[in-house]
Amino acid sequence: MTSTVENSAARVPSWRTLPAAQQPEYPDQEALARVVTELESFPPLVFAGECDQLRARLGAVARGEAFLLQGGDCAESFDGVGADDIRAKVKTLLQMGAVLTYAASVPVVKVGRIAGQYSKPRSKPTETRDGVTLPTYRGDSVNGFDFTEAARVPDPERLKRMYHASASTLNLVRAFTTGGYADLRQVHAWNQDFVKSSPSGQRYEKLAREIDNAMSFMRACGAEPEEFRTVEFYASHEALLLDYETALTRTDSRTGHLYDVSGHMVWIGERTRQMDGAHIEFASKVRNPIGIKLGPTTTPEEALEYIERLDPEREPGRLTFIVRMGADKIRDRLPTLVEKVTASGAQPVWVTDPMHGNTFEAASGHKTRRFDDVLDEVKGFFEVHKELGTHPGGIHVELTGDDVTECVGGGDEIFVDDLHQRYETACDPRLNRSQSLDLAFLVAEMYRG
Ligand code: PEP
Ligand code: MN
Repeated sequence: MTSTVENSAARVPSWRTLPAAQQPEYPDQEALARVVTELESFPPLVFAGECDQLRARLGAVARGEAFLLQGGDCAESFDGVGADDIRAKVKTLLQMGAVLTYAASVPVVKVGRIAGQYSKPRSKPTETRDGVTLPTYRGDSVNGFDFTEAARVPDPERLKRMYHASASTLNLVRAFTTGGYADLRQVHAWNQDFVKSSPSGQRYEKLAREIDNAMSFMRACGAEPEEFRTVEFYASHEALLLDYETALTRTDSRTGHLYDVSGHMVWIGERTRQMDGAHIEFASKVRNPIGIKLGPTTTPEEALEYIERLDPEREPGRLTFIVRMGADKIRDRLPTLVEKVTASGAQPVWVTDPMHGNTFEAASGHKTRRFDDVLDEVKGFFEVHKELGTHPGGIHVELTGDDVTECVGGGDEIFVDDLHQRYETACDPRLNRSQSLDLAFLVAEMYRG
């Protein structure tokens, strides 16, 4: 009897005994336990060796030898698991990647917020409409988006749908990126098309022509590298739901280390990064590359403690700081963080998330962001790193490949009055296709300037 208790206690991972913020309250714990047992029997979605490879690529970013492009939906939805949606997102990221590779003259590590980004931390536990108060929507992996009592009850069966949705998404992403669709010559042709056919694109004619010359030169030399035809592409999501992430955490038979095989890279959000909380403990135990969102209240001491907890070996590529301060704060708050971290000898990847510190509510009630604020935060990020002689390692953006109207501004300008036209996000406002390409070209110019 005693040994049974000890055995089962020994199987509880360290993070499961700590307070975990933002977890759903499932009404039926037995149903949850059954789902978790099933998930534990499912095969990994990624191979631990791929996570190691991404860590090595991010190591190059940390050393200033590469740039990270991380992007995708704020929240994926089960309905969005269709070929068109996935293709449009991958296509947009590849186009951005091509422009950035040319401008930065270093490899661009491409990581989607994709194939697992189904769970959302929320600032309020409930939502009220017309006098009716219901639990807030926490992502398709937890409850339904519809504003009805039934839809908003957390349902553990959704964790299985999350797994299957992630698996089919990742399968198609792998097919696109290795099967010829992502050929650099094709991606370049799409970029030329953007430059020719959209008013915002025309401003980048010079840059596009330079890229075209470089491509022609390589063609003339007879260069046909495999790297033209296939693309390394990784999947990432916020490790929010610890029931799911724990069930997908496995011991790697090659190394004996734990990996969260639900995605290549996972990050801890601004609302769950409590130093003594379950999420940080979880992240400290798995070997995946780890991201952590740092908001404007982050102190240098906290940043140093995260390094101690998550990257005690100081391994470049293990830890990525995703800074999301807001355009009005980044120039003020980021320098001290970077200075103190650099002085400690640590070399994390520094990435800007110019979305989450710049959200506001338009008069129409739509949650939105201004393209100019997004751009300004990226500019601030580059300025700070330039001043300190450190590497602005990359950008982390919420985007979609479709022509939605969720963020205002951009070259093909979207006005506040347009927001209702195609406001389709399940959570935060995303850059649409043309705003995303616009941003890539502007960041490219920044990189060169
Ligand atoms: C997000 O990335 O969608 C998110 C909720 O970000 P943050 O944790 O930085 O608020
Ligand atoms: Mn978001």
